[in-house]
Amino acid sequence: SWREKLFGGLKRTSEKLGENLTGLFAKPLDAQTLDEIEEALIVSDLGPAMAMRIRDRLEDTRHSRPITEEYVREVIADEVEKVLKPVAKPLEFKAARPQVILVIGVNGSGKTTTIAKLAKRFQEQGRSVMLAAGDTFRAAAIGQLKVWAERIGVPIVSGKEGGDAAGLAFSAVQQATEQGIDILIVDTAGRLQNRTELMDELAKIRRVLGRLDPASPHDVVLVLDATSGNNVLSQIEVFRDVAQVTGLVMTKLDGTARGGMLVAAAEKYGLPIHAIGVGETIDDLRPFDPADMARAIAG
Ligand code: GDP
Repeated sequence: SWREKLFGGLKRTSEKLGENLTGLFAKPLDAQTLDEIEEALIVSDLGPAMAMRIRDRLEDTRHSRPITEEYVREVIADEVEKVLKPVAKPLEFKAARPQVILVIGVNGSGKTTTIAKLAKRFQEQGRSVMLAAGDTFRAAAIGQLKVWAERIGVPIVSGKEGGDAAGLAFSAVQQATEQGIDILIVDTAGRLQNRTELMDELAKIRRVLGRLDPASPHDVVLVLDATSGNNVLSQIEVFRDVAQVTGLVMTKLDGTARGGMLVAAAEKYGLPIHAIGVGETIDDLRPFDPADMARAIAG
């Protein structure tokens, strides 16, 4: 089941947390042990604010109850859930036809795969979907998106390698409008090496889309690879400034020990998190339940 997949996927994250906390439970819970627990939580990617809150809670309760590993994990799960609850928001159909979803993120983050996964989910909800291969810098990205489109049976608008991405997006919206498509998902280039160019390109796409509908793009979804660790936070900062990000998808939470990054990102930026990726197949993207997610991370 999906729940088993979630817990299985985040196993390395919870195991790493356990390793970092090893040996801290046999000790008296004095200021030094509390410091060490706080440090272990930071090393586990949960972020400094969360680590401090958990430390404070343990400090407040240490005289009234035995501080076992189980109790510490319970407190962690509880605090993580509190942070994830307000940001867990599935990407929904907003009744704008077409609803334009711009998908951004660095190359290799899982953008193409995530677009296919999102398309499939909307299809399952009875929505008509169209894709636009806006990453015109990489022939491989265009090719890969075409393969996905064919596999799931959705139309795709694509151009030549090196073509104008904004022009392609414009043409895709026109075609989606003509065909009465519910949701248009637009891929974009993700070369962080040339930030100015990337910024200009995303700004141009936004401008062109806004000309057709001031509310467009209706969603700007940033795809982040959990395995890139702290780079997740710097990527949010760059893209938030460049492209007015409205929500996040975090991929590759399966098999990484850095799942805590989801919590750190949620805590620091408070952006909606639409879904998580826990595998390479088309069904491995799901909205998440904050309580399950918190439990899977805390172990
Ligand atoms: P893009 O360059 O951002 O478009 O990235 P791709 O969609 O091509 O993905 C890069 C690699 O990451 C591919 O091998 C994908 O199969 C893989 N990938 C994407 N999402 C996930 C995920 O949630 N889990 C795992 N394990 N792999 C993923």
